Amino acid sequence: MSAYRDQHFLIDPKAVDRIINSTEVCGRTVLEIGPGKGVLTQALLCAGAVVTAVEIDESLLGYLTEHFSDEIDGGRLKLVLGDAARCALPATDLIVANLPYSVSSKILFRVLRMDFSEAVLMFQKEFADRMVARIGSKECGRLSVMVQTYACVQKCFELPPSSFSPPPQVRSAVVKVIPRDPLFPIANKEIYASVVRTLFSHRRKTVRNALKSARGELGDDKVQNAFSRIIPEILDSRAEELYLEDFATISNLVS
Ligand code: SAM
Repeated sequence: MSAYRDQHFLIDPKAVDRIINSTEVCGRTVLEIGPGKGVLTQALLCAGAVVTAVEIDESLLGYLTEHFSDEIDGGRLKLVLGDAARCALPATDLIVANLPYSVSSKILFRVLRMDFSEAVLMFQKEFADRMVARIGSKECGRLSVMVQTYACVQKCFELPPSSFSPPPQVRSAVVKVIPRDPLFPIANKEIYASVVRTLFSHRRKTVRNALKSARGELGDDKVQNAFSRIIPEILDSRAEELYLEDFATISNLVS
C-alpha cells in the first residue's frame, strides 16, 4: 500500500546539510524513520553513518532498495519495511526523522521510550514550539511537560514550505531531543501521564478543581490524600503555572 500522496519530501540541499550538521554523524549508528526517497539517508551515509531505515511505504522501500544497492551490499544501510510506531526498532545511538506531521506525536512518544543518545526530528513548527515551550508559561501544554520530563529539547531551526515538494501549508522546525532521567522522582509513570493529561485538559481550572473532576479516574481517597498534603499555592495554581517538580509531587501523592 502506498502512503505516498500525503508526503512532503525534502528537496532543499541546504536544509539537508543543516539537518546533518546539527549533530556529529560520522561513525554513528543511525535509525532513520521514514526515509522516503532517501535524501537524508544519502546525506547520512555520505557523512559516514551506518544507517537502519524504517519505511512504511512498500513502493518507496522498493525504490530505496534499488537506489542504494551498493550501500546495502556493503553493510552500511539496512532497510526495514514497517510502521515505526509499532514494529520492533533496533537499538541505536542517533535517530533522524522527517515524518508526516499526522504521526508526529505517536512516533515521538515511541522514540522517547527507546534507548538512544540523541534524536534530530522534524515537526510542524507549532508542534515543535509546544515541545520546547517553557514549563510554567502560557505556551506550555501537556506535550511540553511530557517531553521535557524525559528529555532535553532544543529547537535548532525552522524551514519554509519551499524546502519540500510538494510544499506543505505550514512551516517546519527541526528539534534536537536528548533523553534524560526525570529531574524529580516519579513513582508511577502511567499515573504521572494521567495527572498531566488531567491538569491540562482542565487548564483553566485550578489544580484543586481539576483533580476533583478526575476523582473517578485517580481515586477519591488518593485525591483527598493529595489535597491534605499539597501546599495551597500549588492547589490554587493552574497547569500552566506549575513546574516539573510540581507535576511530580502531585502525581506521587495520587500514586
Ligand atoms: N525523509 C524523507 C524526506 O525528508 O524527504 C521523507 C519524508 S516524508 C514527509 C515521510 C516519510 O515517512 C514517507 O516516506 C512515509 O512513507 C514515511 N512514513 C510515514 N509514516 C511512517 C511510519 N509510521 N513508519 C515509518 N515510516 C513512515
